[in-house]
Amino acid sequence: MKIIIVGGGTAGWLTAAHFELLNTSNFNSVGNLNFDVTVIESPDIPIIGAGEGATGILFDAINGPMQSIGTNHIDFLYETQSTPKLGIRFKDWNGEGTEFLSPLQPSKTVTNNLDIDLLAHKVHSQPHNCNLVGRLLEQGLSTYLKEQKQTIGLSSYHFDAHKVGEYFKNICVKRNTKYLQNEVVELNKNSETGFLESVILKDGTKLEADFWIDCSGFSKVLTNQMGGGWHSYSEYLPVNSALPYLHKFEENEIIKFETLAWAMPNGWQWQIPTQERYGCGYVYSDMFTNADKALAELERTTGRSIDPIRNIKFDVGRLENFWTKNVVAIGLSSGFLEPLQATSIHTTIVQIQMLLNVLDVKSDMEYKYNSIFYNNYFRRFFDDNRDLMQIHYMGKRNDSDFWKFCHNELKKTDKVEYVMNISKHRSPSFLEFEQYHGASSWAIWCWTVFGLDLVTKETAYKQLKKYSLQYEANRFFHDTNDLLIPQVSEMMSSMELLTHIKNKTLPRQNIKI
Ligand SMILES: Cc1cc2nc3c(=O)[nH]c(=O)nc-3n(C[C@H](O)[C@H](O)[C@H](O)COP(=O)(O)OP(=O)(O)OC[C@H]3O[C@@H](n4cnc5c(N)ncnc54)[C@H](O)[C@@H]3O)c2cc1C
Repeated sequence: MKIIIVGGGTAGWLTAAHFELLNTSNFNSVGNLNFDVTVIESPDIPIIGAGEGATGILFDAINGPMQSIGTNHIDFLYETQSTPKLGIRFKDWNGEGTEFLSPLQPSKTVTNNLDIDLLAHKVHSQPHNCNLVGRLLEQGLSTYLKEQKQTIGLSSYHFDAHKVGEYFKNICVKRNTKYLQNEVVELNKNSETGFLESVILKDGTKLEADFWIDCSGFSKVLTNQMGGGWHSYSEYLPVNSALPYLHKFEENEIIKFETLAWAMPNGWQWQIPTQERYGCGYVYSDMFTNADKALAELERTTGRSIDPIRNIKFDVGRLENFWTKNVVAIGLSSGFLEPLQATSIHTTIVQIQMLLNVLDVKSDMEYKYNSIFYNNYFRRFFDDNRDLMQIHYMGKRNDSDFWKFCHNELKKTDKVEYVMNISKHRSPSFLEFEQYHGASSWAIWCWTVFGLDLVTKETAYKQLKKYSLQYEANRFFHDTNDLLIPQVSEMMSSMELLTHIKNKTLPRQNIKI
């Protein structure tokens, strides 16, 4: 089957890498179909990339079955200027001076009807202290054992997106993926079926394929003409612009393996460490400020002199149809919420995995049912992530027109209304959140719901008391402490690990996912 992927950003090359994997294995329903894959990338349209972070799904992808096509944790760290990511530090979201951590590890009772270990730590300490990664984050440590210099996993990556694309490209072109630097300028659809038959490139070349994947980012080169439609989230999500910039580490600065998400008067700023510098930016609402004022706000808040890379405008929302006829949109071309919680590359990987599980296209009927399933899945997927984004704007911060708007005028999604109301009386639980592949479950919502004090310490205590669990919770608190304190003491500091990464002195290891 001939596949053309339009776009050579992270989404395009991750997709190509997964096809390479499929061509080497028969572990899913596609069986022994052989995919002849070409990636076309415009030399004139740059990729999006300003220092990014991922969720654990990227770690699992690199250290899972893709190892059979040559991915490797250590190579990835060394070649992409990556650093490990243990979680996110949310600063000032509940008013200036507040902070909470969102580690990439759930509590050990996360799937219980009552997340007792999390509740116990809300009452006696800080929620993130209920797990190892939360403690490592807080103490500026890493997920690497000091002695063995090996990782215990439980993390993801911060990286330079340009280098991540290159990493997967190098793997793919050394194998069977064909690569063209050219621009798609015209589409030819079959007048009866509406299927995409061929595209014309800028130099006049005509290319045909059986199946097409639109990874062209915000250009949506194929999808726009295939009738993907658009479902906007602008009434639910308050930001729509970003001002990315780079900042070199100061001399002797202690670098922590965390994404900093710092609430600002008109949105929030991110700061992501790669090996030599931070990728930073201000995500703001152009209803309340503009690029010049946002830059001034950034310089005032950080004390830095900032030279922005560009001003990015984005429409928050998703396609109505991700899969139309023989074209599927993956990555930014399929939708974008905003950078919070790094859901974009996460979604991209889930999209690829799902597509490759159902891409068994031998008849029109199969196209139809596969695409119905796929479209429904990702409508729900994006809608659930939209809810997760919105809850972050529901804390107590109220010191600017932007934050007042979030509280008083921004339309709440049904899920956010529900979570906010329930949280006044009790903690929501795992069962009240989605649990399908890749979904944003309670394991991720919990840090923000507790961190913003939507569930207060008093409510947590009352809930434990209601079920006479306050003594049990106390026991959990002490047992977790006894378990984790020695584990924390075995871990390498972030700076020691950064030195090893930069000097390339880490041993290779077989990571078990
Ligand atoms: C401000 C900001 C911050 C972000 N932070 C994060 C984060 O922290 N974590 C996260 O997971 N995600 C983040 N994202 C999203 C992330 O950048 C994308 O998911 C990721 O880079 C994948 O992008 P992409 O490959 O879909 O598109 P792009 O990187 O935009 O690539 C598009 C490709 O299509 C090609 N192309 C376009 N038109 C044509 C044409 N006509 N013919 C041929 N080729 C064409 C381009 O040349 C390019 O190669 C962020 C996004 C923004 C805007």
